[in-house]
Amino acid sequence: MKIKNWDMFAFVLAYHIALLALLPAFINVFSWTAVVFFLVTYILGGMSITVGYHRLYAHKAYSANPFFEWCVLLSSALAFEMSALKWSHDHRIHHNHCDTEKDPYSIKKGFWYAHVLWLFEYKRDFDPSLVADLMKNPRVVMQDKHYGKFLLAVNVGVFFLGWALTGSALASFYMGFLMRMAMIHHCTWFINSLCHTYGAKTFARELSAVDNAIMAVLTFGEGYHNYHHAFAADYRNGIRWYHFDPTKWTIWAAAKLGLVKGLRVINEITVLKSLVSKDKKMILEHLSHDMDDCAAELKLKLEELSVVFEEKAAVLMAKLRELKQASSDQKKQLQVEVKSLRASLNTTWDEWVEVTSSASKQYEFAH
Ligand SMILES: [Zn+2]
Ligand SMILES: [Zn+2]
Repeated sequence: MKIKNWDMFAFVLAYHIALLALLPAFINVFSWTAVVFFLVTYILGGMSITVGYHRLYAHKAYSANPFFEWCVLLSSALAFEMSALKWSHDHRIHHNHCDTEKDPYSIKKGFWYAHVLWLFEYKRDFDPSLVADLMKNPRVVMQDKHYGKFLLAVNVGVFFLGWALTGSALASFYMGFLMRMAMIHHCTWFINSLCHTYGAKTFARELSAVDNAIMAVLTFGEGYHNYHHAFAADYRNGIRWYHFDPTKWTIWAAAKLGLVKGLRVINEITVLKSLVSKDKKMILEHLSHDMDDCAAELKLKLEELSVVFEEKAAVLMAKLRELKQASSDQKKQLQVEVKSLRASLNTTWDEWVEVTSSASKQYEFAH
């Protein structure tokens, strides 16, 4: 790796050194107020990236009113992750070219490259066509144009606030600036490194992205990264109610307050349909190398089951649409029908899982 962005390198190195060098002095002025101040600034800065930069701007998973946008754009100054426009630009490249040479933080170049080293080498070419939609948003354009001033104003303000609250300029600087920035940076970087390395590939087995519940805790819900890469338009990353995804809860709560709207959710049936078609493609590709009698039988079974699944899914989707437009007295009957169609689809899904899992064991490929 060759360092090209010396300014970035010097900045990251300098604040890590400062964190170590100032630790003994900070211990002398330690207070729990400073810890709370750190947590508040860390959560605000981190969530501005996940709620705002990532799900609102980069993926347009929902839309927000100007007040909400400004909250996000201003608090993102706590994260030091460039403007929303540039961040979204790079992130869209990551999704479009995941695991390829064009991926800015490709895990194929190694764990530490994906984590932080890419920042020092990455060529900062800007292709406006990738973010044409965001360039029409005056708030995003203004934040990009005056990013340095936003950064300075918010961080100086936060420093003096921390000083007033903790009674120590050093405690405010150490916990409310250095530690906060380091934690936000590493947690964001973990998504590119750990969340492309350790975890489960439940939704897109062809990608390096994984679902990792521990990372979800550290990254405000972004740890369900395999699902996210498979269905990036969804405002949720953790799709089950028990998945720890405070970013989705915040967006949901903001919608209830009328601050955001148009939350995009990928229908569960669509998710299963995509899994069936990906499984089938992967297994058939694998079988094409050794097509014995057993494999031919398996191929037939897969074809048959996937058609049944497709048909059942289409009927259920149509019934759900009908239910949406139904009058209240029709609803009860339709709900009963939906329930039985769903149960029938689930039976086919269970059968699919059984067949594909035993095929993966028999033919020894990762499933
Ligand atoms: Zn990723
Ligand atoms: Zn993303």
